[in-house]
Amino acid sequence: MSVGVIIVAAGRGTRVGASVPKQLLDLGGRSVLRRSIDAFDRHPAIAALVVVLPAELAGDGPAVVGGTDRPCQVVAGGARRQDSVREGLRAMPAGIDLVLVHDAARPFADAELIDRVIAAAGESGAAIPGLAARDTVKRVDPDRGTVTATLPREEIWLAQTPQGFRRDVLVAAVALGEAGVEGTDEAMLAERAGHTVSVVPGDARNVKITTADDLAAARATFTSGPRVGTGFDLHRLVEGRPLVLAGVTLPSDRGPLGHSDGDVLCHSLIDAMLGAAGQGDIGRHFPNTDPRWKGAPGLDLLARACGILRTAGFAVANVDVTVLLEKPKLVPHLDDIRSALAGVLGLAVDRVSVKAKTNEGVDAVGRGEAIAAHATALVWPEDRR
Ligand code: MG
Repeated sequence: MSVGVIIVAAGRGTRVGASVPKQLLDLGGRSVLRRSIDAFDRHPAIAALVVVLPAELAGDGPAVVGGTDRPCQVVAGGARRQDSVREGLRAMPAGIDLVLVHDAARPFADAELIDRVIAAAGESGAAIPGLAARDTVKRVDPDRGTVTATLPREEIWLAQTPQGFRRDVLVAAVALGEAGVEGTDEAMLAERAGHTVSVVPGDARNVKITTADDLAAARATFTSGPRVGTGFDLHRLVEGRPLVLAGVTLPSDRGPLGHSDGDVLCHSLIDAMLGAAGQGDIGRHFPNTDPRWKGAPGLDLLARACGILRTAGFAVANVDVTVLLEKPKLVPHLDDIRSALAGVLGLAVDRVSVKAKTNEGVDAVGRGEAIAAHATALVWPEDRR
């Protein structure tokens, strides 16, 4: 059995509220259409792809679709969905004997779902994925806004795509549509043509992007993971300056030289946090040419960095900093430093790690001429914290 897929992207998608067709909107760095194509292009059972675009885009087909591993035809669609499927079927290579039809607005079809549809369609001639209705289902008079019947829920299934058809079954369904029968999907036309359509379990994640809310929810699945950032800072140590880390003053006759207070711990941590959130670095937000930041305490800048992350929609999950300092010993002060950081970050102390190392007498840090720090921060989108 040789399987091909028609991906129907011919709609204008006006309900999503954007000026471009919804299937071309960005979803985590690729278009909705491209993600739908990828689901089939990387499936081992698929031998051919046909993408049906709106007529005004079909001329730019290869640019709109991008490269594929499988042979891919791009054709112009028609006025109705069934007209577009007809055009897609015409372009399907002759050797294909089982045809899937998929909405480009469903970018989350996974390999198991595709497998189920192929298996069932190969057996019965036509198959669709469906979700059992979970809510009580009412028939409503649209003019009066009143319930006319409560339907038996166990008989109600919500149809998804890809829908699968033996080629001759889809040819018959398309012919019926040509003869004037209107169908909201190909399975409906196949039913009308007298074919049995079997139902396999759908997938609740295989959503159809119809509204702006659908698009926002789909995009959230690509930005909801944790993000990590790293930071580094070094300041020269000179006599007569206080040595302050996260508001804790250390007993030392030397302190960091800098436009701000030279707190390498806070500075490296700020860079790690900003980096994780894709918000640039400390120099962009607190430039050393700006008199506002002259002598600015590291903890104050850290608090401001927390505000930048909040505005960008991120919260810090945990941080880990290693301070390189030859002397004095940092260990007796680590608890105070961690508590101060935890207070500003709004984290439990066990999510704030600070470690101390000497540089074994080597290089500028080892000679006591400099202090340095390396930091790592993990951040989450705000609502996933
Ligand atoms: Mg610095």
